[in-house]
Amino acid sequence: MLHTRHGWWLEEAGEVTPTRPLEGDTTADVVIVGGGYLGLWTAWHLLALEPELDIVVLETAVCGHGPSGRNGGFCETLWGDAPTLRERAGDPAALAVCRASEDAVRGIGSWCEANGVDAWYRQAPMLQVATTESQVGSWDTIVHAAAQLGAPEQVVAVSAEDVRARCASPLLLGGALYKLNATVQPARLALGLRAKLLDRRVRIHERTEVTRLGREGDVETRTGRVRASSAVLAVNSAAAGFPGYRLSLAVASSHIVLTEPIPEVLEELGWTGGEAIVDSRTLVHYMRTTRDGRIAFGWGGGAMGFGGRAADRLELAPDVIARTRESLVRFFPQLRGCAVTHAWGGPIDVSPTHLPIFGSRGRVHHGFGFTGNGVGPTYLGGEILARLALDRRDERTSLAIVEPGRKFFPPEPFRYVGGSLIRRALLAKDAAEDDGREPGTAVDLAASLPRRLGLRLPR
Ligand SMILES: Cc1cc2nc3c(=O)[nH]c(=O)nc-3n(C[C@H](O)[C@H](O)[C@H](O)COP(=O)(O)OP(=O)(O)OC[C@H]3O[C@@H](n4cnc5c(N)ncnc54)[C@H](O)[C@@H]3O)c2cc1C
Repeated sequence: MLHTRHGWWLEEAGEVTPTRPLEGDTTADVVIVGGGYLGLWTAWHLLALEPELDIVVLETAVCGHGPSGRNGGFCETLWGDAPTLRERAGDPAALAVCRASEDAVRGIGSWCEANGVDAWYRQAPMLQVATTESQVGSWDTIVHAAAQLGAPEQVVAVSAEDVRARCASPLLLGGALYKLNATVQPARLALGLRAKLLDRRVRIHERTEVTRLGREGDVETRTGRVRASSAVLAVNSAAAGFPGYRLSLAVASSHIVLTEPIPEVLEELGWTGGEAIVDSRTLVHYMRTTRDGRIAFGWGGGAMGFGGRAADRLELAPDVIARTRESLVRFFPQLRGCAVTHAWGGPIDVSPTHLPIFGSRGRVHHGFGFTGNGVGPTYLGGEILARLALDRRDERTSLAIVEPGRKFFPPEPFRYVGGSLIRRALLAKDAAEDDGREPGTAVDLAASLPRRLGLRLPR
């Protein structure tokens, strides 16, 4: 098994030659910090609004080599957040966000088609499943919210038989079906977007770390400066290291294992419809198939990060990978003995509400907090940030995820220590429930802390 930072998707997508680092001082209409999906979609949508704009993207490594090129490739809507949205913003605003997130899922497919980018975009429903009795019905509030918002077809409860007809894992005890969802080869999407922006003469400087971001939109790197009318901060978990954003997000991590091609097993499971599947625990398992007949199987149970600091254990975690492999075989016992060819991981930017956050401070416009659901929502985020950067207001900038009511995490080191203790409690709770045991009062109490504090962690 090849356990790397970058993983298989980037290997499959093929190497790219990094662009030139920024050297010296320059000016631009908009400078974008971060070359993941969010920064790149922002550039794309800026050009859609004003084709002649002069845009600079500064990326510390190579565009798309962070989580955007390594994720599970679930391209989801925000319907799973409908209950939170209703509670925080009311029904009309909740519906508007969910509908805009549907446009994003469809928009990515249309973009791939229109631009000739083969990112393996495939629409198929997503299943949220139960693997323990305690998880059964955990989707009820979401099904109810979709119905209350007048979109009962979007999230539908389904029986164990229905779930197993789509994927015959013995562990699946029923679930909910999210009608609109897609899967992508995430690295092909990110690198396809990078290539199209280079074609459009966006100035992308890679191997260029931004070391200072001023409120006036002025940006400094170790080797140069950019003065621009607007700046966009699109650095994912690293936002927690920028002044003004330190309490706005927490950093967790997620890790993936990939099997060798096993088309015959997928046939046997009846899992040939392209469904993305996620279980209902707090530290989720998520799984999907690939075009060449593999299973990519992930787990959101990796370590917490400290502030916005990069750390090896957020990307390379042999112990987490070992547990993820065990879970893979629990879900699919027929895979015992089958080869896992690749493993990798990356940081997750956790928002206090589980919803992404967009807004502006002076001339700096930010987006973060995707909480493990960024593939679809970064397209929408790009639409929002492009408008904010150009000071245009419309239905996208009035969505309830733009300048939402503020909610903060505690400062470091309390966030790291508290987050790690809660993570341990969640691991113990999940393990007990897998074995059919009661988790115990202390574990239950610690695991319920985020909810009691009004926080929603990645499920
Ligand atoms: C293992 C894993 C699985 C996941 N699975 C899914 C999934 O199936 N579906 C889903 O929707 N989401 C998933 N996610 C989350 C998803 O990948 C992210 O939400 C999404 O990629 C966020 O895009 P982004 O552009 O904000 O961040 P990134 O892709 O992280 O891009 C930010 C970029 O900013 C750069 N940067 C950071 N600091 C600086 C600086 N100071 N100067 C310049 N550049 C900087 C980084 O190098 C990086 O390239 C997963 C994440 C991981 C780690």
